[in-house]
Amino acid sequence: MMLTATIFDIQPFSVYDGPGIRTTVFLKGCNLRCKWCHNPESWKKDRQLLFYQEKCINCMKCFEVCPQNAHVVTTDGHEIDRKLCNLCGACTDVCYAGALKISGIKMTVDEVFKRIKAEEKYYQNSGGGVTFSGGEPLLQKDFLKEILIRCKNENIHTAVDTAGCVPYSYFEEITSYTDLFLYDLKAASTQLHKELTGLGNEPVFENLKKLSDLKKEIIVRVPCIGGANLHEIEKIAKLLENISVKKVELLAYHRMGEAKSAALSQEKVTFSTPTKEEMIALKQKFLYLGIPIEYQE
Ligand code: SF4
Ligand code: SF4
Repeated sequence: MMLTATIFDIQPFSVYDGPGIRTTVFLKGCNLRCKWCHNPESWKKDRQLLFYQEKCINCMKCFEVCPQNAHVVTTDGHEIDRKLCNLCGACTDVCYAGALKISGIKMTVDEVFKRIKAEEKYYQNSGGGVTFSGGEPLLQKDFLKEILIRCKNENIHTAVDTAGCVPYSYFEEITSYTDLFLYDLKAASTQLHKELTGLGNEPVFENLKKLSDLKKEIIVRVPCIGGANLHEIEKIAKLLENISVKKVELLAYHRMGEAKSAALSQEKVTFSTPTKEEMIALKQKFLYLGIPIEYQE
């Protein structure tokens, strides 16, 4: 039987997820709940309906077609009664304002690989390849392994973007077929990691060390979130002293996830974006490691 995964996006021409131009495949489902997450639709593995209230033009077409009467008007305006919605998709088909979208589609290995191959000419010439991101792509490890093998059989460069908070046995399944790990480090202390993401970070650093000992190519990515983890960035640099990584990328927080949280009826938490000067100062903390450090504003 062909393996399937729940995918919430496939982005061609991606330039931030590894070397060259890449196709990035986003797998749905994550075991962390980062308070600043810019893809909150990636949390649940199941399909979900997003409603962007600010795009709604009140044409009422969704009310007319919904077989479940899940579109309701409350004192807060137009809302979705998510207990009633069965994700039939009827309302998304009639919403020309683009206020409604279902996130998540089940795809087979063949279907995803077909998309990857269709875009091959764009990334192969640039030294790029394919990146599997999420969510946490390792939570769908059987699918991930299968699609990575397919890519390697066709000499396509592969990267896996992970938060590392899974058993090392999950990594063992895919290390032979993964050229590059994009490895997120969010906090140095397990207490802060738990506070910000819901889980402690013991496996994160243990797995990183094991991948480094295996001489895998690793780019560490550190989200820099004003009001959350900036005071621990220096400690993260120290924890990298005995680990071999190719590069560190510092990623400044941006507020893209806030609209999506609202569209999913999730609680919205606001953080601040570090200034350019703050990002430069954070970059300094890694310089002594003697490896390339980049930051994205
Ligand atoms: S169909 Fe779209 S624009 Fe019209 S009321 Fe529903 S959500 Fe709003
Ligand atoms: S997806 Fe279907 S059930 Fe859910 S709100 Fe839209 S029309 Fe109603």
